[in-house]
Amino acid sequence: MAAEPRYYQIAVPSPLFGHFDYLPLRENPVPLTPGTRVRVPFGRGREVTGVVLGGSAHSAVPRHKLKRIARVLDDSPVLPATLLALLRWAADYYHHPLGEVLATALPAWLREGRPARLPGVPVWHLTDAGRALESSALTRAPVQRRLWEALVAVTDGLEAEPLGELSTRWREVMAIFEERGWVARHERRAESEVVPAPQPAPPLNAAQTGAIAEITGALDRYQCFLLHGITGSGKTEVYLGAIEKVLASNKQVLVLVPEIGLTPQLVERFRRRLGVPVAVLHSGLTDTQRFAAWSGAAEDKAPLVLGTRSAVFTPMPRLGLIVVDEEHDASYKQQEGFRYSARDLAVLRAAREKAPIVLGSATPSLESLKNARDGSYRLLELPERPGAAELPVVRLLDLRKLALDDGLSAPLRAAVAERLKRGEQSLLFLNRRGFAPVLMCYGCGWVAPCRRCDARLTYHQRSSKLICHHCGAEQLLPEKCPNCAGAELHPIGEGTERLESALAKIFPKARLVRIDRDSTAARGALEGKLKAVHEGRADILVGTQMLTKGHDFPNVTLVGVVNADQGLYSAEFRAAERLFQQILQVAGRAGRADKPGEVLIQTWHPDHPLFAALVRHDFNGFADYALAERSEAGFPPYSHLVLLRAESPDRGAALGFLRAARAKAETPNGVQLMDPVPSPMERRAGRWRAQLLVQSAKRAPLHEFLDGWVRALGALKQARRVRWSLDVDPADLF
Ligand code: ADP
Ligand code: ZN
Ligand code: ZN
Repeated sequence: MAAEPRYYQIAVPSPLFGHFDYLPLRENPVPLTPGTRVRVPFGRGREVTGVVLGGSAHSAVPRHKLKRIARVLDDSPVLPATLLALLRWAADYYHHPLGEVLATALPAWLREGRPARLPGVPVWHLTDAGRALESSALTRAPVQRRLWEALVAVTDGLEAEPLGELSTRWREVMAIFEERGWVARHERRAESEVVPAPQPAPPLNAAQTGAIAEITGALDRYQCFLLHGITGSGKTEVYLGAIEKVLASNKQVLVLVPEIGLTPQLVERFRRRLGVPVAVLHSGLTDTQRFAAWSGAAEDKAPLVLGTRSAVFTPMPRLGLIVVDEEHDASYKQQEGFRYSARDLAVLRAAREKAPIVLGSATPSLESLKNARDGSYRLLELPERPGAAELPVVRLLDLRKLALDDGLSAPLRAAVAERLKRGEQSLLFLNRRGFAPVLMCYGCGWVAPCRRCDARLTYHQRSSKLICHHCGAEQLLPEKCPNCAGAELHPIGEGTERLESALAKIFPKARLVRIDRDSTAARGALEGKLKAVHEGRADILVGTQMLTKGHDFPNVTLVGVVNADQGLYSAEFRAAERLFQQILQVAGRAGRADKPGEVLIQTWHPDHPLFAALVRHDFNGFADYALAERSEAGFPPYSHLVLLRAESPDRGAALGFLRAARAKAETPNGVQLMDPVPSPMERRAGRWRAQLLVQSAKRAPLHEFLDGWVRALGALKQARRVRWSLDVDPADLF
């Protein structure tokens, strides 16, 4: 047996970089394996859950200054070696403290130091004495009697939930019964889910069969596939076909989906088609549910894991395939704390675990597309929709020549009227919630500002409030102009609320459904609205980008893009890519079945190459144009970016910190530091913000530079006045 090392290196949840050395338990017969959780003293009188990284015979810290491991939590590591190695790599790559990286990867259940084993569900059952009781013994206590009768009626006891339905006082009564020896408690292990027999796939077309064959031809090695299929081309059927093969060879599959794409319908589709239980992982679960799914995968009981971003860190001992659906989606990038890209880490994980990975999208990210064009990813294309379903016709409505009434041009209104007459549905897409983005005084030109941000307040008519969409600040609607006391306050521009009320006036008989963050805040509201659409209880849908993902509306034959120009000339370098993706995605929701769809796009810039490509459904044409633009500007995927952000309630502190940071930098060849600048929205939620962009054509010198720089940043005296963060491969430059 290996000897116990003299020291253990432990990662602890702390914003400090590096790991910490600890002495072993006083008596510990077996050396600890990396990935095992321990409780260790940390800081003043605190004890935290750490993860063993390794052992060593030496420490840079004198032995008498080191503390001892207090307790070992696991018999075997909760993080397998491959995953731990990936997480260590990610901590280095994103320059984020390893302890916090591990905290992101581990479910809260394990982070809090609970046993790595699910407890059973408590069940109360009658003892022989309890069962032998005469019912007349309880006539004076009706609640006791009701609960006792319920327990008599079952053979192996009842859980908390059914007991709670019988009486709110059930706990008290069970305690009395237990004391009298009538009831005892036992634990029931969660039963494995009953699943239906797998359903056969629809007959697939040649492109689908070919794609499945390519993927399943690479099952025992790493290969990254980019599955580029137009909307509705049957990408999901390709995933399912490949997954089926992998499951049949007794391996596990990890499927990542964007935050908003993980619907119960999708889970059900996978479950039914594959006939296996699906372990679902997303942020809406309770700690217990999350840990149950996680440990099912880790213990090799769950063949299929379907989850959002952080599911990429699920241990899977026999990983055979990873699928990343809608790989272009921005929600794969975490925007705070440990700013990782789940898509990028999924590719890396596949490479390390020697498994194939499929990135799927109708509108691939330019990064992935370039990788495919360069040959490092294999491109699989589904250029057609199966069956009779045709792509919708796209037409541009030139706003230079058309008048707008409440944001709607005459041809768009006429097209909606036509659908109403034919009993078909219309979908109007406007990526702006609320009634109007600006409230203005006609007397003096005052516009309602947010006091804490460099932004205007959005007018919400339903709630009679002014709300800041950046910091959430709310104000009641002023009755008079706070500047000139005039009463002429008017909403300028359109949001989804205004569009909805305008449509209600134009088409008083139409049934309207609005889908945005406000209208779907209540639990179940979104499901209810989608159901109404699917069951034909809606004529016109109005909504934000919530409508662009994952949902199919077979009876929608008209898609209207109300304001396509938002973001067309934005300072953000990904704005055009996002706009194109959104419009193509929303256009793809329509006309899937036998009814052809039509897409009308209102724009002031009909000559923009982006729209020309949309009209032709020409993703590759758009990509050529956008890639050329990126190449010229030296932006990703032709360079690597890192953004150092800082913010502070003190004006000037953030910029001061960044200037000091820049002065401290010793940049190697090929790495460029821009000048620190105020952020595009300089003040947000009461803080002044600034940023510094680092750009490099090559990764290696960039990361070498960052290694030293990041350590130096924390030591700057200006760092004490700001909150700063480093964003490697930022999704946006805000
Ligand atoms: P995507 O994931 O590309 O949006 P889906 O796989 O969800 O596409 O397919 C869209 C619709 O077409 C689904 O209703 C699916 O069942 C159906 N479908 C997929 N492939 C075929 C096929 N080969 N023949 C008939 N219908 C198909
Ligand atoms: Zn005024
Ligand atoms: Zn604000």
